[in-house]
Amino acid sequence: MRVIFHGVRGSISASGVEFSDYGGHTTCTEIMTDAAQFIIDAGSGFQNVALADDRPIVILLSHFHHDHIQGLGFNPSLFSKRAEIFICSALCSEESTQSYLQQYYGGKYFPIELLSEISKLRIVSFRELKSIFARDLAIESYGLNHPGGSAAYSITTSTAKLCSLLDNEYREDQFQSLSAFVNEANLTIWDGMFTADELPQYRGWGHSSIEQGESFLERSNCKRLAITHHAPYRTDIQLDVMQQNFKDPSIFIAREKQVETSY
Ligand SMILES: [Zn+2]
Ligand SMILES: [Zn+2]
Repeated sequence: MRVIFHGVRGSISASGVEFSDYGGHTTCTEIMTDAAQFIIDAGSGFQNVALADDRPIVILLSHFHHDHIQGLGFNPSLFSKRAEIFICSALCSEESTQSYLQQYYGGKYFPIELLSEISKLRIVSFRELKSIFARDLAIESYGLNHPGGSAAYSITTSTAKLCSLLDNEYREDQFQSLSAFVNEANLTIWDGMFTADELPQYRGWGHSSIEQGESFLERSNCKRLAITHHAPYRTDIQLDVMQQNFKDPSIFIAREKQVETSY
């Protein structure tokens, strides 16, 4: 399993020298396995994913807020792929997934009807997706605390387990079930949109803090935790300070183009 962060911002992309180190693209994480190339969320970072030719491509959408789908129409090789392309969200049925994406990528909002331009596209239910890949790996989902809902995912191969918990406003009553969900994960991706200081003024916005991630890692038994979905105003200098202040070496601030190969 190889993990690449193609976008680590939340809400909206960030542009400017003060953001260039950690990167400005909105959320997109690639997980390459032997059976398929998984891409969790298609924020603006999706435009830079080198899409596979030799195995199926599976785009898993946590939810349909624009920072998680706005890159979907902008990866040029999406239109010329020979591999099968699956799009799936555990949040809703395949009909709803199709309908939400059709509205966003067509009509008044997009110059072409995107979905009809993707050859070998299959929009499937989560149940069907699980069964298609059941021989090679396990894909699970968990309902997160976010306005309109959001689906966490775990992908478990014979060698590693990866979990993504975007977007989520962490509540202490999630701890039991969430720590069971990430049990033994080699890497867990955490929504670190806010700091502990900021969190009180953004209750109900659907995001967690970096400090909550730290405490979650300490108490759960996942092995490493990547902080991502950085606020668009969080500068490289601020993120560097946060990284330096972590006491536990197994937590890190994810940056765009970061490749994690040791799984
Ligand atoms: Zn988001
Ligand atoms: Zn969201």
